Order: sequence, then structure tokens, then C-alpha cells
Amino acid sequence: AKAEFDRRLCYYEHDMDEYARERRAMSKDLWLAVENNGFHLAYQVQKSVESDEITGYEVLLRWNRPGHGLVPPMDFIPIAEESGAITAIGAWVLRTACYAAAAWPEKYKIAVNISAVQLGQMELVTTVRDVLLQTGLAASRLELEVTETSIIADKQRALHILRQIKAMGVSVAIDDFGTGYSSLDTLRSFPFDKIKIDRSFMADVDNNDQSKAIVRAILALGKSLSVPVLAEGVETSSQLDVLRAEGCNEAQGYFLGRPGDILWTSSVTPLLRKM
Ligand code: C2E
Ligand code: CA
Ligand code: CA
Ligand code: CA
Repeated sequence: AKAEFDRRLCYYEHDMDEYARERRAMSKDLWLAVENNGFHLAYQVQKSVESDEITGYEVLLRWNRPGHGLVPPMDFIPIAEESGAITAIGAWVLRTACYAAAAWPEKYKIAVNISAVQLGQMELVTTVRDVLLQTGLAASRLELEVTETSIIADKQRALHILRQIKAMGVSVAIDDFGTGYSSLDTLRSFPFDKIKIDRSFMADVDNNDQSKAIVRAILALGKSLSVPVLAEGVETSSQLDVLRAEGCNEAQGYFLGRPGDILWTSSVTPLLRKM
């Protein structure tokens, strides 16, 4: 048994080494990608539930890691946060997305995800201001998506930063609503411009009374606070039917459009190429 234990421990330690080594390697590659322009962006459409009209696009970061292929953001963003690379990456995302959006029809907004680390840094305020000046994008067309979890890390600082950004005319959406800690307290602390219902509630909204009741409650909350609600992760027409019946304002998900490139053939006609 002792031999078996030692053998397992050895494997375990080996695995830990391997894990730490892999994280270090990924961190190094992320910094290289910052220097070598190694990222690109995918855009996912957001639509009005009632009219089916496009209201904007959420920008999603993509990293094609040399020798590894496309790495999911969930795998590399935590490492970019840990190493500090997320500050440079996040500024690149903001600049590139706003630059692109400045060429779109004016009625379309651009929604950009902001990491918890960025929300703890005063320089985010300067970055947003500079990006708007450099790209000429109207502040009213930019929306930052922040999660409840990223706000509570250093709540006072995060809210201070968000207030300054909101004062420029930029809007702020609360992302993944319903999955973080103290959802309602977050809503009370800051005048959010949009609530995004986490996609986990959407999965069975058309056949699970529990999920439907929760979605209904979030929609009622949005109504009484006069905050529009967007449902994410809409994958089927029957999910969209439920949202329409319940009076949800906007929707986003594979059923409405997958994240992809946007090729503007003219100033009004968007062509989406699937990735
Ligand atoms: P998120 O902000 O909740 O973004 C939505 C995610 O759901 C995206 O995954 C999108 O591709 C996926 N999705 C969209 N529609 C559907 C659907 O109908 N069904 C399902 N199952 N999934 C759908 P993605 O691109 O892998 O991004 C994952 C997360 O990584 C994002 O979650 C966000 O938290 C983070 N992320 C992405 N881009 C950025 C970025 O530029 N900066 C930061 N800080 N985080 C980012
Ligand atoms: Ca988001
Ligand atoms: Ca989300
Ligand atoms: Ca999410």
C-alpha cells in the first residue's frame, strides 16, 4: 500500500509540475500574442425580441495559440488575469471593437466584456476615454459587460470606476445575472443599463417550470427598475417564443446568430460569416 501511495503521490506531484509548467507556457505565449497581434475578435448579434431587429453586437475574444489551435477564453482569460496581461489584452479588445463599430450603422451598439482585473484599475477610465477619442465612436454606442462576481472583488473601487465611465455616456450591463453572489445588492449599488440573464436559465426555459419562473422574476425585476433585460444562450425557436410571451426585451444566442466575423458590404447591410 505504501508503495502504491508513493507511486500515486509521485504521479500527483508530476501532474502538479506539469500543470504549473503548462500555465507558465501559456502565460508566456499570451504575452507574445500581445506583442505580435495574435488575437482576433468574433461578434455575436443581439436582437430585439419584439421586432427581430439588430440592436448591437457583443464582441468575443479569440486566441489562436501557435501549435495548439483555438483556445477557449474560459481557459486563457484566468491566466491572462493572473499574469496581468489582461490589461493590455482588454485595452486591445476595446480599441479594436470600437474602431470596428465606428464603421457600422449608427443604430448598432457594441458590447465589450470587462475583466475583474480591469475593473480594479483606474486606468480603465483613461483607456475608455482615449479609445472613444481615437476611434470617434459615440459613447452612447459602447456598452461594457461586467459580472457581479467581478464587482465584489473590490466593490468601492469598481463602482467608482464604473461611475466615471458611465458619466462619459457609456452604458453598463450586468452580465451572467443570477449566477453571482448577492445579485440584488449589486443591482441596488449601481444604475445598470441592462440585465443579461445567464444562459444557464435559458437551457430548459421552455420545459422546466422552475427555470421559467426564475426568468419571469428577473423580467419583472427589470420592469420595476426600468432596466431592459437581454436573455443569452437562446438556441431554439421555442425558447425565443417563451421570451416573447414573457416580454423579454432582447435576446442573443446561437438561434439568432453565432459569433463570427462581420463583413460590411455597405453601410447598412451586414453579412455574417460563420467561424
Ligand atoms: P460571456 O460573456 O457570457 O459570453 C457568452 C458566451 O456564450 C460566449 O462564449 C459565446 O460564444 C457563448 N454563446 C453564445 N450564444 C450561445 C448559445 O446559444 N449557447 C451556448 N451554449 N453558448 C453561447 P465564449 O466566446 O467562449 O466566451 C466565454 C466567456 O469568456 C465569456 O462569457 C466572457 O466571460 C469571456 N470573454 C470572452 N471575450 C472576452 C473579452 O474580450 N474580455 C474578457 N474579459 N472576457 C471575455
Ligand atoms: Ca458577456
Ligand atoms: Ca454572459
Ligand atoms: Ca458566462
